Amino acid sequence: MKKEFVVIGLGRFGGSICRELSEQGMEVMAIDIDEDRVNEFASIASHAVVADTTDESVLKSLGIRNFDHVIVAIGDDIQSSILTTLMLKEVGVKKVTAKAQNDYHEKVLIKIGADQVVHPERDMGRRIANNIVSNNVLDYLELSDEHSIVEIVANESLAGNTLIDLDIRARYGINIVAIKRGKEILVSPQAAEPILLKDILIVIGADKDIDRFEKKMN
Ligand code: ADP
Repeated sequence: MKKEFVVIGLGRFGGSICRELSEQGMEVMAIDIDEDRVNEFASIASHAVVADTTDESVLKSLGIRNFDHVIVAIGDDIQSSILTTLMLKEVGVKKVTAKAQNDYHEKVLIKIGADQVVHPERDMGRRIANNIVSNNVLDYLELSDEHSIVEIVANESLAGNTLIDLDIRARYGINIVAIKRGKEILVSPQAAEPILLKDILIVIGADKDIDRFEKKMN
């Protein structure tokens, strides 16, 4: 069965989610209080509606509780974001993802029952900072406060060694789950696999251990 989504707030973030979902063939209802924004999405989303989502009767008349997943992408208007999220949970929407502008906003959204809270500016900022600070780290995905998956480029100090030679799991407590080599990707690489210069190692582990490994490389 096709999943049905609602995106509320068609700014840069919500608009981008709406476009991507539509491109992937999903049914999307796009909502914004601003008519111009809604018109922009009329030919992209399955339905585009002008509505103020802080009004419970509006949400009910749109039949919003029948959708699988609602994304609240209201930006600067934190009060509207909070009220909308609260109403959505009150009318019985099963899954609500809400965008937080800051840590306090995030706390409130979680308290009032948002099922998932995203913080795109903060997370992207962290990723870019990590990428800038370290020469070898290409990208990183935070798994928890203390664990991540990181892409590290193999430099001269690693190249030519096999995974056995490096003994990374025993020495650092981290795991290389895959190696990207040009267009090829070796998933669960064998212990005897030699690492080549410029290989991209996809490493999973505790941040402090990944950090230790990464410092050792330089
Ligand atoms: P971004 O930072 O992602 O660009 P914006 O703050 O520009 O976010 O966009 C948020 C959108 O949410 C705006 O288009 C705004 O009109 C819409 N919005 C704000 N309040 C409401 C509301 N109560 N109901 C529906 N849409 C709203």
